[in-house]
Amino acid sequence: MSHQPGRHFLQIPGPTNVPLPILAATAKPTIDHRSVEFGRLGREVLAGIKTIFKTTNPVLIYAASGTGGWEAALVNTLRPGDRVLMYETGQFASLWARMATKLSLKPEFIRGDWRSGVDAAAIEAHLAEDRAHTLKAVCIVHNETATGTLSDVKAVRAALDRTGHPALLMVDTISSLGSTDYRHDEWGVDVTVGGSQKGLMLPPGLAFNAVSDKALAAAREATLPRAYWDWEDMLAANRTGYFPTTPATNLLYGLKVAIDTLHAEGLDAVFARHARAAEATRRAVRHWGFETQCANEAQASPMVTAVRMPDGHSADAFRAAVLERFNMALGGGLGPLADRVFRIGHIGDFNDLTIAGALAGVEMGFKLFGIPYRAGGAAVAQAVLSGEPPAFREAAE
Ligand SMILES: *Cc1c(COP(=O)(O)O)cnc(C)c1O
Repeated sequence: MSHQPGRHFLQIPGPTNVPLPILAATAKPTIDHRSVEFGRLGREVLAGIKTIFKTTNPVLIYAASGTGGWEAALVNTLRPGDRVLMYETGQFASLWARMATKLSLKPEFIRGDWRSGVDAAAIEAHLAEDRAHTLKAVCIVHNETATGTLSDVKAVRAALDRTGHPALLMVDTISSLGSTDYRHDEWGVDVTVGGSQKGLMLPPGLAFNAVSDKALAAAREATLPRAYWDWEDMLAANRTGYFPTTPATNLLYGLKVAIDTLHAEGLDAVFARHARAAEATRRAVRHWGFETQCANEAQASPMVTAVRMPDGHSADAFRAAVLERFNMALGGGLGPLADRVFRIGHIGDFNDLTIAGALAGVEMGFKLFGIPYRAGGAAVAQAVLSGEPPAFREAAE
């Protein structure tokens, strides 16, 4: 058996590092999911998770990866052949659109450049043209994990409101929930999809649907085939804290601790911590002389930074070398960005030194593996992380 001293640096944008108290909670003995004790746990997590989505409506919890949450959102609210408006922010938006096609929906996919977030004006133009209201849903990805762009959900809600369009608004928050501001009720979202293994700091295995009253009404009219994902059976069982099938009991133990952990730090403090790490990372990247995949600073993700590799250098070879030499996992490029970008995750359980260490590892990697760069990016990041005044930061660059 080989031993790697020190901690593994898991700097991918999910699955993220699981804090020890959460990990320990998942290691408790599994109990009877029809017991009185389980009902208490069920009621606690079903109530607690609402505070993370910022909703007073039900949140459904499935044993599934985030992709299951996408499917549940679509099959519970739509009919075969329904048109849905989707926006190509990157790989995850593309996969959701592909799923819609497989489910016999008709996605109208607004083409994007994989370097920016959703253009709400383009969505508004499509909605305005659809006077017959044949578009039944607008589906967007809040944080496009493949490219490191964050989209403005409120602006999309405003586009629906201004055009008076009745389509449902569905938002994938799989890599944003619990890491940056999100408000299911206040922002007028109908279905919010979440997952356990990113900002919620849990192992993979839970998917979430937060639902509005309008989404619940749509579910009564929807005719896409659904069985495991059926909201109705789930909601009926959830009323008393139980689940229609065997839930992921041990992940629910962890979820309870994860919710408490987020509130103990304070959601706003959690969001600020992510924003600071992201800013430090972007400043390091700029100093090194690299471009971020996100071309618009105002849409830069607080959770992940995708870095464009200089031409002629393989991002995957670089990542493999960093893993081998420094025991740090960086995210790879997805779809057309494969081998062209690497992604630095700054999401979930980390502190300033985690980010300082990760950026030092990236810079040491450039040096060791002969990637052309300007030295000192990690030091620039340190100035941000140590809270030096802005004037100092400018001077440092
Ligand atoms: C990770 C991710 C998904 C896919 O989730 P799985 O758990 O792998 O099914 C979907 N959307 C976004 C934005 C993601 O980051």
